[in-house]
Amino acid sequence: MEKNLKKAYYIVLTILILLFFTKDVNIKDKFYKEIKLINNPDELLVLVNKNNQLQANYVPKDLESISLKYANSDKYLKKEARIAFESLSEDASKLGYRIVAVSAYRDYNYQNQLFNYYVEEKGLEYALDCSAKPGHSEHQTGLALDVEGENKDYDNFENSKAFIWIKDNAHKYGFILRYPKGKEDITGFKYEPWHYRYVGIEAANEIYNKKITLEEYLKK
Ligand SMILES: [Zn+2]
Repeated sequence: MEKNLKKAYYIVLTILILLFFTKDVNIKDKFYKEIKLINNPDELLVLVNKNNQLQANYVPKDLESISLKYANSDKYLKKEARIAFESLSEDASKLGYRIVAVSAYRDYNYQNQLFNYYVEEKGLEYALDCSAKPGHSEHQTGLALDVEGENKDYDNFENSKAFIWIKDNAHKYGFILRYPKGKEDITGFKYEPWHYRYVGIEAANEIYNKKITLEEYLKK
C-alpha cells in the first residue's frame, strides 16, 4: 500500500514538473512568431507587442514635447497623450507625488540601438526579457511613457509613494499600467511598474476595473 502511494506521489510530481516546463516553453514559443505588420498605427487603441510590429518608417504625426515641469529632459508624446500626462503629473504634484516622464516617444532606430545595446551588454536572453525588438516597442506610437518618482530611479519606481498613487489613478487620465504582474504570458513583457500607455479614459477605466490587459480588452 505504502509502495503504491509512493509510486503515485512520484507520478504526480513528474506530471507537475513536465507541466511546469512545457508551460514555460509554450510562453516563449508564442512571442515573435507569426508577426503581423500593424495597419492602424495612428489609432488610439493600436496594439503593439511581440506579435504586432510597426513599420520602421512609422512616426506619429502630432508629437509634442512634454513640458519640462513634467519630464526630466526633452520628451515627446502624441498631443492627446501629452495633455493627459501633464494633467496627471500636475495633479500628482499637488498631492505631493513626483511623477515625471523619463522616456516617451522612441523612434525605430533608437529602439534598435537600445535592443542591441542590451544584447551586447547582457546577452540575447536578457535583451528579449527586458527590452523590445525595433517595431515591437509601443514607445514608437507616441502613446507610451516610462516615469520615475521621488526616488529618481524608475527601476525602483514600485517602491515610491508615487507608484501607490498612480497605480490607482492613472486610468482617470486615460492611462493603463501596460505590463502588470502575473500577465507576462499575455503581454509578453515582464512586470514594469513604470511603463504607462495612453488608451483614453473609457478603455482605461474598463481595463483597470476588470484588471485585464490591452490584449484582453481588444479581444473583448
Ligand atoms: Zn517603457
